[in-house]
Amino acid sequence: MIKPVIETLKALASERFTVEYPEERESLPDSYRGMLRLDIETCISCAACERICPNKTITMVEIITERGVKKMPQVGIERCLFCALCAEVCPPKCLTLGKDYEVNVVYDKRTLIKRPEELE
Ligand code: SF4
Ligand code: SF4
Repeated sequence: MIKPVIETLKALASERFTVEYPEERESLPDSYRGMLRLDIETCISCAACERICPNKTITMVEIITERGVKKMPQVGIERCLFCALCAEVCPPKCLTLGKDYEVNVVYDKRTLIKRPEELE
């Protein structure tokens, strides 16, 4: 009978393993792969990211920039594996994976299709 009490006291005195989400946030490792980010200024519209994506999540779409109409990646985040292959093959390294991990928390799945402007 005394053993459960001892175990409970030990647990109360030990370090906490969870955080009070969403008020508290865990710090993420440098290697964490979250939401994709695109630097529209340096994208060269080569479509290498679209070709390598294993889940066919990337579609090149037209956007109007200061230098005219260019094709840039649009990402369907609902199907993204966060594998980072697209970022690895991107020649100017303008496509990266950030630290945002709450991107898939939406009421409407259609909002998970992110146009290039929304990835900036
Ligand atoms: S991280 Fe992987 S799955 Fe997601 S868009 Fe890039 S290549 Fe596709
Ligand atoms: S994001 Fe990178 S790989 Fe994709 S089209 Fe632009 S330059 Fe090419």
